Amino acid sequence: DHRLARISSSIRVIPDFPKPGIMFQDITTLLLDHKAFRDTIDIFVERYREKNISVVAGIEARGFIFGPPIALAIGAKFVPMRKPKKLPGEVISEEYALEYGTDKMEMHVGAVQPGDRALVIDDLIATGGTLCAAVRLLERVGADVVECACVIELPELKGREKLGHRPVFVLVKG
Ligand code: 5GP
Repeated sequence: DHRLARISSSIRVIPDFPKPGIMFQDITTLLLDHKAFRDTIDIFVERYREKNISVVAGIEARGFIFGPPIALAIGAKFVPMRKPKKLPGEVISEEYALEYGTDKMEMHVGAVQPGDRALVIDDLIATGGTLCAAVRLLERVGADVVECACVIELPELKGREKLGHRPVFVLVKG
């Protein structure tokens, strides 16, 4: 796809953020390039528009940037998957492992119904722990996870292995 080179080069890499040794893939520079941002959304929309997706689940925080335009374009509802204590209604939550310790992800009860066909969106897959927690929340309420989609994959961390049979679609590798 001729659009991928521009998307890839619009992502900035910042060494030693948020701590020494991490090469942070910064998508805010992709957002500054309206053509790269539009192409990113278009590629996802082209892939998912005929797949009967009923819910786009976006992971806080950068899944909130890419998820809503995709949801609007394919005619699906958007459901935010949030950090603890942010959602005001009744929630279900899933714990997941971080490099040190654990974190939690929450989703509103009633936002997703049994039989919903879900697409999970985030900016980046590293170890896959974050996407996995989102998948567990969706599957607990009876949704089918059709695919997980990210702009960037860090393939050395083998995150897609953690997701088992659920396909992972990415645009570029870091
Ligand atoms: P995982 O759970 O797959 O190890 O980590 C993925 C999560 O961490 C995603 O929510 C992603 O936004 C965030 N993340 C980890 N490393 C980076 C990075 O280099 N750049 C960006 N933009 N996000 C990252």
